[in-house]
Amino acid sequence: MPEADTAPAPFRRLAVVGLGLIGSSIARAARHYGAVETIVAIDRDATVLDRVRALGLADEVTDDLAAGVAQADLVILCVPVGAAGEVAKAMAGHLKPGAVVSDVGSVKVAVAAAVAPHLDPGIDFVPAHPVAGTEYSGPDAGFSTLFSGRWCILTPLPEGEPEAVARVQAFWETIGAIVECMTPEHHDLVLAITSHVPHLIAYNIVGTAADLEEVTQSEVIKFSAGGFRDFTRIAASDPTMWRDVFLANKDAVLEMLGRFNEDLSALQRAIRWGDGDALHALFTRTRAIRRGIVAVGQETAEPDFGRGRTREPDPS
Ligand code: NAP
Repeated sequence: MPEADTAPAPFRRLAVVGLGLIGSSIARAARHYGAVETIVAIDRDATVLDRVRALGLADEVTDDLAAGVAQADLVILCVPVGAAGEVAKAMAGHLKPGAVVSDVGSVKVAVAAAVAPHLDPGIDFVPAHPVAGTEYSGPDAGFSTLFSGRWCILTPLPEGEPEAVARVQAFWETIGAIVECMTPEHHDLVLAITSHVPHLIAYNIVGTAADLEEVTQSEVIKFSAGGFRDFTRIAASDPTMWRDVFLANKDAVLEMLGRFNEDLSALQRAIRWGDGDALHALFTRTRAIRRGIVAVGQETAEPDFGRGRTREPDPS
């Protein structure tokens, strides 16, 4: 057990809805760091719930959303972005007064719009997005240190209670994350370029390679060089989650894709006209970005792109 914090835990009873990679990691981390007294796991999928029981991830396990959230002080929605609204609607009226609802969705404007209208007065909603994950899904994929040293972005609503925001911040800090607040609009723009467009590019490049008629599928697998392999790792990410991300963050993704296409055209021109200086100048700037990410501890400098970090042994 890590060093005990002297501050009282911000929440006693936690309900996690959706025990996939992120939900199961929150449950593991909450127990590992002693962030709450009781953990309730709620999922619609009986196979997921069986795994949660077998792995001992929660104190209570149920497929009954209304009963599961009823006594919770903090409810965290860990379902795909497109499902957050329907889950909020189904639990409306079953939450106890003063409960705080949060989420982990990778898109914030759409989730806030889908969830907030269903919550009764007296229930605080504090949207959140832990910027941490892997390409794996399901309860077996989670681990308690997933959020250690990683950012968790809170996007408080204008009408949100500062005290509820502070408690959610304290929860994330207890499980190892570093918290920053910003508006949902700014979050969606930043994540469009740092996460969503890179995933789209990965899905596209792997799809293009798979469709090439002159190259067989087995050659793509056999001769996959480091660069392509890194794209395949990203392109193996959960199809449902990423479908929802692109549908929910349409405007910001299209804005960033427009810029990306312009820059790609400039690169195409530089290659066509043999402009080595332009290529060299860009590649020098991008190398500095990579070094900056390593310097602030968000990545290792290991030559395998830090793959060893993506799933550390679970100490819990
Ligand atoms: P995941 O491993 O696929 O888990 C999602 C869980 O939610 C599954 O157990 C799924 O059950 C359940 N679920 C789906 N729709 C539901 C519904 N309508 N009602 C109840 N449960 C439902 O996904 P994840 O990677 O943990 O992602 C969960 C959330 O975290 C998403 O909003 C995503 O944007 C966000 N996030 C993901 C990452 C990442 O790297 N993966 C990082 C940060 C944030 P079924 O098996 O029945 O579908």
